[in-house]
Amino acid sequence: MLSGKTALVTGSTSGIGHAIASALAAEGCNVMLNGFGDAGEIEHMRSAVAEAHDVTVAINQADVGRADEIEGLFEQMSRELGEVDILVNNAAAPESRQEAAIEDLPPERWDQAMAVNLSSAYHTSRLAIPGMKQRDWGRIVNIASSFALFGSKNKVDYVASKTGLVGLTRGVALETAEFDITCNAICPGWTLTPHQEGNIERHSESTGLGRDEAIADMMESRQPSKRFVYPEHIGALVAFLCSDAAREITGTAIPIDGGWAAE
Ligand code: NAD
Repeated sequence: MLSGKTALVTGSTSGIGHAIASALAAEGCNVMLNGFGDAGEIEHMRSAVAEAHDVTVAINQADVGRADEIEGLFEQMSRELGEVDILVNNAAAPESRQEAAIEDLPPERWDQAMAVNLSSAYHTSRLAIPGMKQRDWGRIVNIASSFALFGSKNKVDYVASKTGLVGLTRGVALETAEFDITCNAICPGWTLTPHQEGNIERHSESTGLGRDEAIADMMESRQPSKRFVYPEHIGALVAFLCSDAAREITGTAIPIDGGWAAE
């Protein structure tokens, strides 16, 4: 479906980003992986995706919280894979996913959340859009969160940066609407990734519940389905948003949350 297109997925060495990169590779895209981690493990991941789908996969470990490193990432992309047709802004600063009351939130952590969760998408979009307009084709997907649709205590950096990402999505969608370019946000609820495994463990320890009971207890407060979203569900949604069938879907913030947003 997307054979020969070139995709950049930020934060794709783990969790949701990795599932999105795999889903796009399965549709025939050449993919640039980005993110942190052990060099050997990432190389193993790179070659596994490339071999499984017979596409070219490259890796760049830029910190997307830094504009200069994003420019380097685009230069490597252009040299090794070609211009960006599909841009998925998925990376989030790990610190922004920990809870802190506003008066205890250090200014550096606020700045980091804005840089990685929000400004990175501005930089990648400003660099990708001129080429997309020239070729009259492009797909941008920003991975926001249920916390872009709802507030929550002790998460102002996360909530504000993810809400801002939805605003950026709408603005970019309007600026590109007359081209075959779309820009959408996806708002996942609780999704089972390495990050959530940590939350399950902590909830289990603090409540004394076993793993299954701890998951059920976490779901009770938010996710009516009482099931985790799986990263593969989000990968499949991104692949759909990149298809021709989704050409007229732009400027949206799509929940994928087992009913959280319906309550
Ligand atoms: P994860 O921790 O499993 O993966 C995060 C990825 O981002 C990793 O590859 C990491 O190396 C990379 N990364 C972190 N900081 C980076 C930086 N500065 N530069 C480049 N790469 C960086 O996370 P996940 O749970 O898969 O979450 C992925 C996205 O989905 C995030 O934007 C998160 O906010 C969003 N999200 C997740 C959930 C969930 O329940 N897991 C729910 C809603 C939204």
